[in-house]
Amino acid sequence: MAEDRKLICHRCGVELVPVKTFFNYLGHNFNTELPACPKCGEVFIPESLVRGRMTAVEQELEDK
Ligand SMILES: [Zn+2]
Repeated sequence: MAEDRKLICHRCGVELVPVKTFFNYLGHNFNTELPACPKCGEVFIPESLVRGRMTAVEQELEDK
């Protein structure tokens, strides 16, 4: 059985597609492409990605 790295919406059973998603964190807006369900709009945010980005933003803020 080959492992498929594609993400599937567990609610709709359809393949997630990359969607430009906007974040607002500590007054900073930034966007990135995240896999989202084309049917219900559920966005899948990998926790590691969020943590990495948030940490980067926090460090940037602390620098000022
Ligand atoms: Zn869905």
